Amino acid sequence: MGFLTLEKLSKIYGDFAAARDIDLSVAKGEFVSLLGPSGCGKTTTLQMIAGLVEPTTGTIMLDGRDITRETPNRRGLGIVFQSYALFPHMTVAQNVAFGLEMRKIARAERDERVATMLGLVHLGGFSERYPRQLSGGQRQRVAIARALVIQPPVLLLDEPLSNLDAKLREEMQFELRRIQQRVGTTTIMVTHDQAEALSISDRVVVMEQGRMTQVDAPYRLYENPATPFISTFVGKMNRLDGVWRKGAAEVAGVALPAEASGLQEGQAIALSIRPEKIALKPPGQGRLDGTIANRFFLGSSWLFTVETAAGAILVSAPNDGDEPDREGARVALDWAPASLRIEPLAPGA
Ligand code: ATP
Repeated sequence: MGFLTLEKLSKIYGDFAAARDIDLSVAKGEFVSLLGPSGCGKTTTLQMIAGLVEPTTGTIMLDGRDITRETPNRRGLGIVFQSYALFPHMTVAQNVAFGLEMRKIARAERDERVATMLGLVHLGGFSERYPRQLSGGQRQRVAIARALVIQPPVLLLDEPLSNLDAKLREEMQFELRRIQQRVGTTTIMVTHDQAEALSISDRVVVMEQGRMTQVDAPYRLYENPATPFISTFVGKMNRLDGVWRKGAAEVAGVALPAEASGLQEGQAIALSIRPEKIALKPPGQGRLDGTIANRFFLGSSWLFTVETAAGAILVSAPNDGDEPDREGARVALDWAPASLRIEPLAPGA
C-alpha cells in the first residue's frame, strides 16, 4: 500500500463531475505530477488532498490513516500555490519561520531550521530581505522553503512555476527536483505543462475530463500513450487518418509500410509517429517524398514541416553542426516500420 492513497475519489458539482473515480497510490518520497488541460480536474484533486475541497465520495489515506474528513490544519501538508502568497510585511526569514511559530517550536530550533532550509534553496544571504526585494524565482524558492520547513508528510504544488518566464521556469524545474530529492518529501504537483511534468516527475498522472486516463513513468507515457489525446498532448506527434490495405497503411492513396496485426482489409486506421523517429533522406531514397515547407531552429535540434502526398508531416533532426536543407528542398522521409503506430479507428471516429 502506498504512503498516500486516493480511492475512488470524486467531486461532483450538481450533475458535473470535476473529478471522478480517482485511484492513485503514491509511494513515500515519490514525485508525482497531475497533468492535463485546463478544466480537467487537476486542481480539484489536489485540493481534495489538501483538505480545501471536500470529496463527494471516496477515501484519502495518509500513512495508513484515513484523513478524508480531516481539516487542512490537522493534515499538516505543505502547500505552494502559483501566487506564492508570501507575507509582504515579513522578511524572508520570518516568512519561512511562520509555520514553526504556529507549531510553537522553540526559538533556537526554529532559527536553525530556517537557516538550513534557506541554505537548501540557495537563499542563505537573503534572510533579512522583504518579498518585494526578491525576483520571481527567489520568491518562489521562499514559498517552497516555507512549505518544507514544517517537514510535511506531503508537499502539494499547484502550478508553482507558471508565473516565471521561460528561462527561469526551466531553471526552477531543476531546482525543485534537486530540493525534493535532497529532502525526500513525497510531492504532488499540478501542471498543464507536459514538458515540465515529464522532466521532473517519477510518475505522471494524466487527467482528461475529470478522469485519470494514464499513470506512468514519463518515458513510458511518451513511448506508449494510452489515449489519442495523450499521444498529441505529450510531446509532438504526427497523426494521420488512413485505411489498412494489402498489409500496408494507405494514406491519401500512398501505401506506407507498417507493422500491425488483426486489422481487416479496408479498416479505417489512425497512424501516429513521433517527429524524431523520421529521418530526412535524399528524394527517392525513403518511404515518402516531400518538400520542406518550414524549418525551425531549436538549438539542439531542427524541426521541419514537410509537405507530402499524405499531408504535412513534422520531422525532428538533431543539430549536427551543419546547416540542413532549406525551405523548398525536395526530400524523402524514412522510418522503421515499427515506429509507425497503427490503431483501428472506430466507425464514425
Ligand atoms: P486549470 O488548469 O484551468 O486550473 P484544472 O484542471 O485544475 O484546470 P479544476 O480547477 O480542477 O480544473 O476544475 C475542474 C472542473 O470543475 C472545471 O470545469 C471547473 O469549472 C469545475 N469546477 C471547479 N470548481 C467548481 C465549483 N466550485 N463549482 C462548480 N464547478 C467547479
